[in-house]
Amino acid sequence: MIAEAVKIELKRILGDGNASFSKEDLLCYSYDATNSPVLPDAVVFPRGPGEISRILKMANAEGFPVIPRGAGTGFSGGSIPVEGGVVVSTERMKEIIEIDADNLIAVVEPGIVTWDFQQEVEKLGLFYPPDPSSLKFSTIGGNIAECAGGPRAVKYGVTRDYVLGLEVVLPTGEIINTGVRTAKGVVGYDLTRLLTGSEGTLGIITKATLRLLPLPESIKTILVTFPDLRAAAKAVSDIIRLRIIPSTLEIMDSVSLRCVEEFSKAGLPNADAVLLIEVDGSPETTGKEAEKVRKICLENGAIEVKVASDKKEIKELWNARRAISASLFRARPDKINEDIVVPRSAVSELIAGVQEIGKQRGLLIASFGHAGDGNIHVNVMYDKKAPEEAEAARSAVREIFNLTLRLGGTISGEHGVGIAKSRYLDMELSPSAIEAMKRLKNALDPKGILNPGKIFPKGEHQH
Ligand SMILES: Cc1cc2nc3c(=O)[nH]c(=O)nc-3n(C[C@H](O)[C@H](O)[C@H](O)COP(=O)(O)OP(=O)(O)OC[C@H]3O[C@@H](n4cnc5c(N)ncnc54)[C@H](O)[C@@H]3O)c2cc1C
Repeated sequence: MIAEAVKIELKRILGDGNASFSKEDLLCYSYDATNSPVLPDAVVFPRGPGEISRILKMANAEGFPVIPRGAGTGFSGGSIPVEGGVVVSTERMKEIIEIDADNLIAVVEPGIVTWDFQQEVEKLGLFYPPDPSSLKFSTIGGNIAECAGGPRAVKYGVTRDYVLGLEVVLPTGEIINTGVRTAKGVVGYDLTRLLTGSEGTLGIITKATLRLLPLPESIKTILVTFPDLRAAAKAVSDIIRLRIIPSTLEIMDSVSLRCVEEFSKAGLPNADAVLLIEVDGSPETTGKEAEKVRKICLENGAIEVKVASDKKEIKELWNARRAISASLFRARPDKINEDIVVPRSAVSELIAGVQEIGKQRGLLIASFGHAGDGNIHVNVMYDKKAPEEAEAARSAVREIFNLTLRLGGTISGEHGVGIAKSRYLDMELSPSAIEAMKRLKNALDPKGILNPGKIFPKGEHQH
């Protein structure tokens, strides 16, 4: 619990209406998409780095936790105040400060919703590619803190590839600027890259300088139906092997298709597997690439290859794709959602292995996601009220991680560690690597006040 004097000081720093201690507000800021809520002691809505700096200085003096929060859509519990404290919401910091079309950069505040920012730059013929499926709700600050990826990562990379520089309030309250506004820059350590993906544990991002690209002239969206999942996964490997890099290459299995079609009625086929593929570029290139993709899919046994004909159809397909995660609750009441990545050539082996792990334990496992970059969202479905099923689900997750690492992969491609994966950290990282990371955290946050209880295992959280 924070002291009464801290509450008074928070109100003084932030002004009326920008600091709340009401039970209703605290509940709203107690959770993220992991559905493992813990109440904070306060939630504050700063308007700039100065106020955040004063809050962090007070947190160091008084010893209370501070938890940065964007939209709370995280899948690893990063914005959950597991040790109580003050949630710093960025929702009142959502300005686009500048779009410099001549130099292909933009400067934004962290609370802007990714989709809103993309719509603004696209009006000027510019393109900000990172597109997590939560893009209509999640914020640029949250995307940077998690180094979010998305369907377009297969061709365009992830958030880190678009962050040129940051304004950050360090855990001890100093405000620093990292990085550059130029295409190149190597002065000092690359703090921008260190902070990107640091899950709100090394600093609070208050401004970001982002790289933009010209908007592609044309896009072709192709929906391919396969009689089985392994054939679809093999087509993914072949597309990449034959040097075609689509802008998106998404896979959906039968469980995902069934759940999302019931929910969205987007006209998705009732099949074992579907690939949603996009190619972009000049109209000439997209035409040629779409034709090559069609051929490869048919050679791998595709039942149907359909090119989406109009904007409405494309929008419905993407709305459906983005709704898969939520719609899976139609199949079972609970799920463990993992975002493993393997080398692209191992996607089909991974999917076969995951199916086998589910079969051995009698579990329903839904797989979908960014097959083109080897990043598959594996959702182990279960009912937490059935203890044996819950135990089987946990053992399946460990087995899936073992398989992923054996195939040369990583246990998280984009959702981060947070509290959800901290217990598995040592499966992938050596003790010395974990120790080096802890030393780094201690150097920047000696009192451990910024987002404590995340990344590094610290007992089991009740989630
Ligand atoms: C339906 C659904 C689909 C999703 N699809 C994808 C996907 O395709 N790809 C993907 O990568 N993720 C995906 N996610 C996960 C999630 O949306 C991303 O991790 C997103 O980047 C989180 O942004 P947010 O604004 O909600 O951040 P939050 O959940 O509020 O916070 C996430 C982390 O960032 C930190 N943070 C937030 N703002 C700041 C800041 N200004 N400074 C420092 N730290 C900060 C928090 O402390 C926390 O650790 C999905 C989630 C959902 C619910």
